Amino acid sequence: MLLISCPNCGSRDETEFHYGGQAHVAYPENPNELTDKEWAHFLFYRENTKGIFAERWLHSTGCRQWFNMLRDTVTYDIKTVYPMGTSRPDLTAKAAPESGTASLAADSTTTGTAAPSTSATSITALKGATK
Ligand code: ZN
Repeated sequence: MLLISCPNCGSRDETEFHYGGQAHVAYPENPNELTDKEWAHFLFYRENTKGIFAERWLHSTGCRQWFNMLRDTVTYDIKTVYPMGTSRPDLTAKAAPESGTASLAADSTTTGTAAPSTSATSITALKGATK
């Protein structure tokens, strides 16, 4: 259960909020000039970030106001909440714990190198089973 801090109301239970998708998706200046593919890209394509992600939230049962949030999609840790219309806060000053993400990447690389030997073993086992 998340405890979300609404900029207007303070900390409330996540059941009072609705997720609104990726933040800072700019509406095209001239939508009529876009190709169908570009329009579809604007409508349906969003980032699928593993880590810190800027997203919109609506305090639907409270003040009914939209706001933005920076949230870690891995740990669900809410980094900051900020009003609509403002730019994404720079978390690099607080980003020292981000080295943890780098270590996760190193772990996945290690797993990746281990995978081929595992599959070679399973192929050998299959050959042995067919004989
Ligand atoms: Zn609120």
